[in-house]
Amino acid sequence: MLNPERHAESNYSEKPHLIHGRCQAAHWDFGHHVVPPASASVAYRLDSAKRGARGFQEFGHDHGEGEHVDLYDRLDEPNRAMLEENLAYAECGECAVTFASGMAAISAVLCNCARAGDHVLSHQVLYGCTHSLLHNWLPRFGIENSSADFTRLESAKPHLRPNTRVVYFETPVNPDLTLIDIGGVAHWLQEINRQRRPEQRVWLVVDNTFSTPYGQRPLTQGADLVVSSLTKNIGGFGTDLGGVAVGPACFEPGWLSFRKDFGGVLSPRNAWNFLVYGLPTLSVRFRQQQESAKKLARFLERHPCVEKVRYPGLPSFPQKELAEKQMKDYDGRFAPGTMLHFCLREVGAPGESALKFIDCLAKNSYTITLAVSLGQVRTLVEHPYSMTHSPITADPAGVTRVDPAGIRLSVGLEKADDLIHDLSGAFEEVFQPGSPTNS
Ligand SMILES: *Cc1c(COP(=O)(O)O)cnc(C)c1O
Repeated sequence: MLNPERHAESNYSEKPHLIHGRCQAAHWDFGHHVVPPASASVAYRLDSAKRGARGFQEFGHDHGEGEHVDLYDRLDEPNRAMLEENLAYAECGECAVTFASGMAAISAVLCNCARAGDHVLSHQVLYGCTHSLLHNWLPRFGIENSSADFTRLESAKPHLRPNTRVVYFETPVNPDLTLIDIGGVAHWLQEINRQRRPEQRVWLVVDNTFSTPYGQRPLTQGADLVVSSLTKNIGGFGTDLGGVAVGPACFEPGWLSFRKDFGGVLSPRNAWNFLVYGLPTLSVRFRQQQESAKKLARFLERHPCVEKVRYPGLPSFPQKELAEKQMKDYDGRFAPGTMLHFCLREVGAPGESALKFIDCLAKNSYTITLAVSLGQVRTLVEHPYSMTHSPITADPAGVTRVDPAGIRLSVGLEKADDLIHDLSGAFEEVFQPGSPTNS
């Protein structure tokens, strides 16, 4: 497994590695292919009963050493194994385990770190399904949770409990692009963990879906574990669901075993798409989308009908210093990302102009599509309050944490000028109905 020191020594920049990865996985004997062959075999022929028995005994523990015995797709599979090598490399982690979706990866990570009687402390705004997992499902298995505002670390500290095993957040936060200081939280937890017995330590888990490893590597900033939805910018084309957990090698057996028994396995076909199309094109897509996002952020900020825009690349971004410290691409350049969040001047009840604006885009825009998900070649717009984050806003305790006026924009590969053209049309329709350009 490559590590950050070896990265630094490398004669190559990072980008060729995302294209070539390692893809060597000697035990699969695919060394002669330029593109790894897509494999599709649920079960594997065994030479002897003894070999089969050894495969089951060693499952999850034999990585990188000795002869590999393949048994069944739900346990291990060549396309996934190659993708996992490359994802661990991209995130600067020791091991990566893929899952059927981002949510399957998050479930596996939380259930490996915490058990009945333990507590998970999270940031107060999370992707809606992660919130629902913590609030609706894990308590049934005895895992408690509570939330705090991790943008103000001093105010979050008192929420840590003796039975807290996980501190969990996204940065940037979905949907409003608030940032959380990974290094700051990591530093505090290192102090805490020094005073705790190893089995009582707190694990810092960061959801890196928005930035992707191209734009930020939380493990190099003190996070213990990273989760990501491969469905989003790593997949990039909006064709496949997937998720990944990355972290120290000691987690690999537990994650593999959880995946085997709960069954949230990434399909080999999806793994092949991420391996062959998604990861190798991540850098070039991300950079292009980010350039457009910067232009759109400046356009929106200057627009008289826009109340506020949040984009880490704007000089007005309230956490600009933190953004520049932790959001960096592989070459060390500032990587403010491909996502925008903005609010319009209100014309009626809270959120009314946002919904009108989104409906105008859905009806008239060619380049901007009303849809959830993000990180695709197509620009997508959505209303987090009523859609992706409705599990939070449906909860009386969470209703004020997501802005009803907020609009989330995931910038794709269209030309920025074309996107601005379609946004301008929607502004006119909402704020100057009947103007000649709309008739
Ligand atoms: C979409 C998303 C997830 C869940 O990923 P799926 O692949 O849809 O299961 C988790 N976290 C964040 C921040 C997301 O945007």
